[in-house]
Amino acid sequence: MRVLLLGGGGREHALALGLAADPAVDQLIAAPGNPGIAGVAELRSVDPADPAAVAALAVETGVDLVVIGPEAPLVAGVADAVRAKGIAAFGPSGEAARLEGSKAFAKDVMTAAGVPTARAYTCTDAESTGRALDEFGAPYVVKNDGLAAGKGVVVTDDRAAALRHAEECGRVVVEEYLAGPEVSLFVVTDGEAAVPLLPAQDFKRVGDGDTGPNTGGMGAYAPLPWAPPGLVDEVMRDVVHPTLAEMARRGAPFAGLLYVGLAITADGPRVIEFNARFGDPETQVVLALLETPLAGLLHAAATGTLAAHPPLRWRDGAAVTVVVAAEGYPAAPRTGGVISGAEGPGIIHAGTRRHDDGTLRSAGGRVVCATGTGPDLAAAREAAYELVRGVDLPGSHHRSDIASAAVEGRITIPG
Ligand code: AMP
Repeated sequence: MRVLLLGGGGREHALALGLAADPAVDQLIAAPGNPGIAGVAELRSVDPADPAAVAALAVETGVDLVVIGPEAPLVAGVADAVRAKGIAAFGPSGEAARLEGSKAFAKDVMTAAGVPTARAYTCTDAESTGRALDEFGAPYVVKNDGLAAGKGVVVTDDRAAALRHAEECGRVVVEEYLAGPEVSLFVVTDGEAAVPLLPAQDFKRVGDGDTGPNTGGMGAYAPLPWAPPGLVDEVMRDVVHPTLAEMARRGAPFAGLLYVGLAITADGPRVIEFNARFGDPETQVVLALLETPLAGLLHAAATGTLAAHPPLRWRDGAAVTVVVAAEGYPAAPRTGGVISGAEGPGIIHAGTRRHDDGTLRSAGGRVVCATGTGPDLAAAREAAYELVRGVDLPGSHHRSDIASAAVEGRITIPG
């Protein structure tokens, strides 16, 4: 199988490692890729969010499957353009990607499908925003309606800050605060059949102890030793299948990766958000544990044959990834810093580029993800931090508490 992978971040490096390790893959091309991905794929330059350019590249390279990593190409209709050329694409249509592209659309689908989620209002002016904030009370949750690369959400006790965020965004969803530990569940689907991957947890806030502003994600681990038994089955039954059925009923079947972001509240799991693609950095840990060949799984989802795919196999043990971020991230990351110690196994490249002088330089806020595995979560955590200690990037920072609450048994479900 020849595969074209779109994107150039940490998620795509993790996907590239999985695809390259599949014995069925004889050629892997990535566009635009990154210096880490270059170790396992041939890189091509293309604007991943340009449907015509991606479709032309897929035809030119004669690939059997296009795997679309980031959300922007999905929302732009890249999967539709590739399929129009008769080539299989892993990723939802532009229409179906609205589950991620519009928070208001996602809420509407959840309501119609009877999916348990936070109560919410879509607001476009200060008066209705203020009313919604007061109805739900603090902490206030205000979400930009459009795509915001995981950074359009403000959760705050400060009513004025909540109003300011709403004004900056224009159209927002104001919702009830959900208390409880968060879970990311990835589901591979062809629109009808659906296969859950291992649940993972990520860390959105920049600082230890969940302090500071939201980021794209500062680390992750899987599996979740504290997850209630039956959680995945419950979410498949109450969230995933009703959502897929509702999308099909609307004439926009969702095929690809449905990312279900959940809070495990006193009343059970509640959906915080849907995304239309693999999450970053949870992908790094989930795929580190997947034994089933990745390309075959994604190809089955892309060709409507997932029901016939064999059950997934997982490695024993656990995986932890710790993001090493550039100085100034998330507000104003400093790029161009020289990175050393980032070329070995377990180091996933997220925001790097190769400089003309051959050095590896930082090229984004989240620079590398140090990904360790081990027989249990404590060992995987130790392996990940050992890798972090080997990476040098002046001014960089990372969280020191990724997976520590889970290792120490400090995660509790309210109620
Ligand atoms: P989102 O982009 O919707 O995932 O939101 C980013 C982060 O904001 C989530 O991972 C949560 O930590 C937090 N968040 C979003 N919605 C809520 C909510 N209703 N209650 C509590 N926290 C939330």
